Amino acid sequence: MDTAKEIAYGSDVFNEKAMREYLAKDTAEALLHTMRDHTPLDPSIANEVAHALKQWGMDRGATHFTHWFQPLTGSTAEKHDAFFEPAGMAETLARFSGKNLIMGEPDASSFPSGGLRRTFEARGYTAWDVTSPVFIKRHSNGATLCIPTVFCSYTGEVLDKKTPLLRSMQALDRAARRLMACFGEPDGHATITLGAEQEYFLVDKALWLRRPDLVQCGRTLFGASPARTQQLEDHYFGSIKPRVLAFMEEVERELWRLGIPAKTRHNETAPAQFELAPMFEELNLAVDHNMLIMETLRNVADRHGFVCLLHEKPFAGINGSGKHNNWSVAYNGKNLLEPGGNPQENAIFLAVLASIVRAVDLHADILRAATATLGNESRLGALEAPPAIISIFLGEDLSAVVRRIEEGTASQAGGKAPKLRIGVDTLPPLPRDVTDRNRTSPFAFTGNKFEFRAPGASQNCSSVCMVLNTIVAESMETLAASIAKLPKARFHEGLGKILRAVFKDHKRVLFDGDGYSGEWVDEAARRGLPNLRTVPEALAPLVDERNLALFAAQGVLMPTEMHARHDVFLDEYDRKVRLEGKVALEIARGMIEPAAAHELRFLAQTLNALREAGLEAGAASLRENAAALGAGLERLHAGCAALEATLGGETADIQRAMAALRAEADALEARVDDARWPLPKYRDMLSIH
Ligand code: ADP
Ligand code: MG
Repeated sequence: MDTAKEIAYGSDVFNEKAMREYLAKDTAEALLHTMRDHTPLDPSIANEVAHALKQWGMDRGATHFTHWFQPLTGSTAEKHDAFFEPAGMAETLARFSGKNLIMGEPDASSFPSGGLRRTFEARGYTAWDVTSPVFIKRHSNGATLCIPTVFCSYTGEVLDKKTPLLRSMQALDRAARRLMACFGEPDGHATITLGAEQEYFLVDKALWLRRPDLVQCGRTLFGASPARTQQLEDHYFGSIKPRVLAFMEEVERELWRLGIPAKTRHNETAPAQFELAPMFEELNLAVDHNMLIMETLRNVADRHGFVCLLHEKPFAGINGSGKHNNWSVAYNGKNLLEPGGNPQENAIFLAVLASIVRAVDLHADILRAATATLGNESRLGALEAPPAIISIFLGEDLSAVVRRIEEGTASQAGGKAPKLRIGVDTLPPLPRDVTDRNRTSPFAFTGNKFEFRAPGASQNCSSVCMVLNTIVAESMETLAASIAKLPKARFHEGLGKILRAVFKDHKRVLFDGDGYSGEWVDEAARRGLPNLRTVPEALAPLVDERNLALFAAQGVLMPTEMHARHDVFLDEYDRKVRLEGKVALEIARGMIEPAAAHELRFLAQTLNALREAGLEAGAASLRENAAALGAGLERLHAGCAALEATLGGETADIQRAMAALRAEADALEARVDDARWPLPKYRDMLSIH
């Protein structure tokens, strides 16, 4: 096994070191400049870069290259081309030019486009996103050079998740610069950072193979809760089983080779649930890296006899899996969400905070829309997951500061504390307390960043971060426009007034209490905060006039692109619900009904045998069991018919029928001999040995 020293961090990434080795000095500088400053790739160096990449890749065993992109399906896509092209008789020539690097043309007709592309112009274009470095993906029998790319249609409309993310980063950069200019900060560059904590389950592959629901839908559609789930709270941060640790170590080694800073690993709340958190990175790279983390988890799990479940709610009644998006913005290297040590830094911090509070309050609906998937629908608002209501947790100390600003007077010490003068006074120190944070809030300030906890485990982080960037950009611009008008002499006083008005207008979105409680649902309704429970409701804001205008104004997505997304996501939801309905019916009819019938026959035969043998004891209980089982079987049968009748209809009806059928099936589970029950049970799947 490699020792810690032998693990070559970043050895499979075309990073600065590789560039300096494989490129002429000037070309390496030009490329590095392009990557750092997000400028377009100079076409005059493309051929040289392509040549170097091919050489570098082939030196590492790559035989193929691919444009690696992120279509609207939520996963990543790739089409491999060999470096080799036939060149005469039995000869091949390794070819890879600047053209291959900058532009690729996959026949993309089967990727969802929401009607943006007609089939006769099915081609999509992919182009290298130079801000994300090229890397090598290894598989058991070879390696592929992967070029992170954006994907758009023939007519230039966006077909992927990366392009709008990059546009939203530009929008936020633009807005942050305007805001910082108001404070006299030197013109510079905003860096958006993301640290995505990834939760997942591991199940034994042999058990997984016997669960058609897990195989086809990624979650269990049936299964009674076992006696023991997470009530003992002994799994969270418990010692990691050796078999799981072996898996995690292999995952980390693979990630480190790809330059992905996997940092922490631990058991999560539910049995068989775990988390991997990387160090935060620049947003675009962090998103790509999260996609690779998910893929690596899946691939390595397979080698260890596991299946990695990234579904948001694989097991009903058990903690679900989220992906906490830790997000922040830095300007000229300084984190804007880190309260500073002097009045100027504090004023900037408060202006940024006010921008975010305003953005989240005004656009909670579109932020929620970005987390709307079928998998997340069953997670949000259930066991240990934030509700579908978007609110902000600031913590006791920062809340007190905001209250003082908003009231414009002292609220501490019975009104005797002096007024907080923005830009003149320093803030009281805000402890970055990691122990008593409110875990029930969907959007929490955690000392130097916001942690958005609503996104689901399987989601591509780009959607939520794209929305966050866009709404915060709009807010920063709005604040900057008012701040810019302030007379110099009364700047701080005016700034105080502006911040006061923002906090006053948007304080309804601030909530430090228990987000899991029923009272919060009522309280949120009184405050007028949206609670968009189902996916169709939650997706609707994507085509709301207000949001169409916002995204167009920020140059992130045009109305046609927003409509396309809405249609693609709604269609995906629709297809998935129907698939789940069909799979549930197949399992109930093909596996559960026969198992219950066998059990019934066994009971009847035993009763007959008792009678023939002239035995009385036990007959009454058998008769009682048979009656209950028979009645359950009939209800299951009726439930199947009811589900079947909904399959061509509304998704909500399918879901209701599935829930009713499940209740019957799960009740039967306790009435059928363990040995005869056809599906591995929760208790087996949730314990790893
Ligand atoms: P938790 O207590 O929520 O599990 P962790 O410490 O495990 O928190 O994870 C926090 C995540 O936030 C890590 O990925 C970390 O790198 C990231 N993070 C820290 N600072 C920033 C920042 N300025 N911007 C974005 N992410 C950050
Ligand atoms: Mg977290």
